[in-house]
Parts: sequence; structure tokens; C-alpha cells
Amino acid sequence: MGTKGTAGAKGPAGSGTGSGISRRAVLIGGVVTAAGTAALARDQLKRAWWRLPGVEKPRKPGEVDYARATWTAASEENWRRADRPDDYDIDRVVVHITQGGFNSAVRAFQDPGHGAAAHYIVRKDGHVTQMIRELDVAFHAGNRSYNERSVGIEHEGFVDRPQGFTAAMYGASARLTAAICARYDIPVDREHIIGHVEVPGADHTDPGKHWDWDRYMKLVRAAKV
Ligand SMILES: [Zn+2]
Repeated sequence: MGTKGTAGAKGPAGSGTGSGISRRAVLIGGVVTAAGTAALARDQLKRAWWRLPGVEKPRKPGEVDYARATWTAASEENWRRADRPDDYDIDRVVVHITQGGFNSAVRAFQDPGHGAAAHYIVRKDGHVTQMIRELDVAFHAGNRSYNERSVGIEHEGFVDRPQGFTAAMYGASARLTAAICARYDIPVDREHIIGHVEVPGADHTDPGKHWDWDRYMKLVRAAKV
């Protein structure tokens, strides 16, 4: 996707720190009502803001947001650099099913032509891989504002094969979701922990009717940190 290509043209040249702070204030006021061209302008301001020296959060290669996860980087074409939760509030966790095996999902997210990727993939055996930092906006929900406000978790398997939704996978995912909810103060309920199918405008049906939401939410509550 071309979303990253325009950022380079808008450098911080000539913008002092004071200017950055006032831009930030403008941004906070604009978040709720932004739409259409206003959203584009807001986005450019945000890019300029995080590019100001000294305001970006430190990043280390290979660093993960969830201690039990291992890191494998997604292609930079499948996400957008951001500075969440400072530029966008995070108030949703979106549950996905990969419709394929773990390795093919990892490869898809590493493929610059794929156009989509989630922050995490949970394997059938409970292993968790992080591929995009929670700071950044992953292209997983098929809805720009939901991408900006959410953390996306993929689960290995197929929507029509519930036998693949193992206890290890449910448990590992629930611990991950509980940690994300604790980190951003997200309520542990079905309004804030949703399936891809529940994203407005989504044309995907995952995680499907076999995903056991009652079981999952109980596990998330039990894992609450
Ligand atoms: Zn999905």
C-alpha cells in the first residue's frame, strides 16, 4: 500500500518543539470529528509530530510488547508507523482466524504485496508471535479507524474447523488479550473485544460461529492482570 510513501516529503524542517506541542493540541481536539480531507490533514500533522526529534518513543529492533511473544517482523508495507496510544487511543482488540496454517500466515505478513497483517499470531500450540509493534497501526481490520484504534490478533486455523481451536490457543490468546486490555485500560467485554466480522464494513466473517466467545471471555477475565 502507498500509505508510507508520502511521509518522507513532510519533514520536521523549520518546526520547533513549541510548534510541535501546539500541533499536538490541535490533534487531540480533532480526533473525534475528523473525516474526509480533515482526516488526511490530521494524518499529515501526526506524521510531522512524531518525526520531530526527541518525541518519538524509543524502539529497539526485535523488541516485543508482550513478554511471552517472539518477534518476527512483518513487511513495512502491511502496517503504518504511529505512536499509539499517544496519537490514537487503543480501545479494541480484534480477533481473527488465519484461514491457513501458522507458517503461511507469517509468510503472508512478511509479503509486501499482501496488503494486510495483524500485530500477533497465536499458534495452535499456544506459541505467540508478534509481527507489528502495538505503537503502530496494523492493516488487519479492513477499516481505517478500527485499524488505528485496535490491536489485531490472528489465530491459526479455519473458521469451519473448530477442532483446531485448541485449549492451548484459547488460553494463550486470552492471556495476551488480558495483557493488552490491562496496558491500555480497555474494558474486558464484548464491546471492546470483538471479532473481525463485527468491525463496521468488514467483509470478513472470522472468527466465525465456532469461536467460543463465552469460553474465551471467561479465560480473558481469569487472566486479567
Ligand atoms: Zn480477519
